[in-house]
Amino acid sequence: MADPRGFLKHTHRETPQRRPVDLRLRDWKEVYEDFSHETLQNQAARCMDCGIPFCHNGCPLGNLIPEWNDLVFRDRWRDSIERLHATNNFPEFTGRLCPAPCEASCVLGINQDPVTIKQVEVEIIDNAFKEGWVVPLPPDRLTGKKVAVVGSGPAGLAAAQQLTRAGHDVTVFERADRIGGLLRYGIPEFKMEKRHIDRRLEQMAAEGTKFQTGVNVGVDLTVEQMRSDFDAVVLAGGATDARDLPIPGRELDGIHQAMEFLPWANRVQLGDSVVGEDGQPPITAKGKRVVIIGGGDTGADCLGTSHRQGAASVHQFEIMPRPPETRADTTPWPTYPLMYRVSSAHEEGGERVFSVNTEEFIGKDGHVVALKVNEVEMKAGKFEKVEGSDFELEADLVLLAMGFVGPEKSGLINNLRVELTDRGNVKRDDDFQTSVPGVFVAGDMGRGQSLIVWAIAEGRAAAAGVDKYLMGHSALPAPIRPTAAPQR
Ligand SMILES: Cc1cc2nc3c(=O)[nH]c(=O)nc-3n(C[C@H](O)[C@H](O)[C@H](O)COP(=O)(O)OP(=O)(O)OC[C@H]3O[C@@H](n4cnc5c(N)ncnc54)[C@H](O)[C@@H]3O)c2cc1C
Ligand code: SF4
Repeated sequence: MADPRGFLKHTHRETPQRRPVDLRLRDWKEVYEDFSHETLQNQAARCMDCGIPFCHNGCPLGNLIPEWNDLVFRDRWRDSIERLHATNNFPEFTGRLCPAPCEASCVLGINQDPVTIKQVEVEIIDNAFKEGWVVPLPPDRLTGKKVAVVGSGPAGLAAAQQLTRAGHDVTVFERADRIGGLLRYGIPEFKMEKRHIDRRLEQMAAEGTKFQTGVNVGVDLTVEQMRSDFDAVVLAGGATDARDLPIPGRELDGIHQAMEFLPWANRVQLGDSVVGEDGQPPITAKGKRVVIIGGGDTGADCLGTSHRQGAASVHQFEIMPRPPETRADTTPWPTYPLMYRVSSAHEEGGERVFSVNTEEFIGKDGHVVALKVNEVEMKAGKFEKVEGSDFELEADLVLLAMGFVGPEKSGLINNLRVELTDRGNVKRDDDFQTSVPGVFVAGDMGRGQSLIVWAIAEGRAAAAGVDKYLMGHSALPAPIRPTAAPQR
């Protein structure tokens, strides 16, 4: 245990400061200031090593949180990255982007602020990269078996790294022009700079994982060809089919899905020449009155991006009522709490509007100019319009950020003829194998829209399933089973 009196000495939870808004809006870089090792060690000392660490259960990866808190407190940084990498291939992603369900289930959180687990995680991995401790770990022996991984988001990358290290010959196919899935083209630079992906890909390539971009499996490479070229397949194509809002006026120009809008900003930061005749990316918020429909994280990413592009105004609409300031009674400890959250993007401006429903998009000359909106209230589990609450809000750009309904039912899924669940995701057994022998699935494609931490956990578990299928047994860890894991 780090310090038996740590949580009594350091009663306050500390997290890094966010950089001043006017500064960070100008440079797109990550929003957090550096955090000193001394402060971090005091925070790690707040961990009580409580005997039944609920944080283990809270983390889908089963991260060994009390162990690395203790090692950081004792200045044993090298050991701490060994323990962290034992359960998590990419702590630099989760340490920046995870909503930290572990912290929601921290025992200290019952009557004090929880331990800053996520910050300890990211500092361990950033320090390890700085010290040169993250090196390629190629396998000692090769199995001669070939595995195709379709999709290069966190699920595909985790599966690929595990399988390569187990000695298999792994190729990751990605239809986009760069590797990374939503980490690359969904999540904005200000939440995670893309250099973190590139640094990890260098390690993976040096270990032997092969990457092929610009290959849409099911179109550019037929599933028959893939099945004959590879001994096993991992489907990690994500849940990219976005939920739409089919109301009058949806066909107007200026209304886009979040994932039609966000990638352009990332491309600009990556140095791509994406500008049109007016010197702007094809879809930009510059000078526009923006309305984002959807109050979740994707909506917040659109908000932060719109402000950085120089929007004239931004409103973010949410149909649900404003959540409570503190943990709701419906989500008691140690569950992940429903409560009002202010992300870095919300701090930067814009107006959040709760309990509103958009009835119609109003257009002029084929372009959206306003939204017809009304307030709603929940009655007997259904939204009902509040009579007399109609209003119109002018807009030049509307962004739909209402989530994703599941994987695209394209050439890949249709031609493989894998069975789907009643929610339209790819069905899998406890080894993450689909209804087609030798074809496995991991991440959002099987689980539905979820989180990076789940994608990595599923990638690791699917890799164990593939290894067992190919070799008859596997020593790879399988952190979760679909039937046991709660769906979030
Ligand atoms: C805007 C946005 C922000 C988010 N922010 C967060 C966050 O802050 N924290 C968090 O935990 N989660 C976040 N999420 C959710 C998280 O990104 C996903 O849960 C996670 O990326 C899923 O990983 P995945 O590997 O299953 O799929 P993805 O990351 O979606 O990757 C799938 C990849 O497969 C490729 N592909 C699909 N079909 C084919 C094919 N036929 N051939 C070749 N390639 C194919 C796609 O091009 C894509 O690159 C966010 C999601 C969005 C949309
Ligand atoms: S991956 Fe997420 S849940 Fe797990 S320890 Fe890190 S922040 Fe917590």
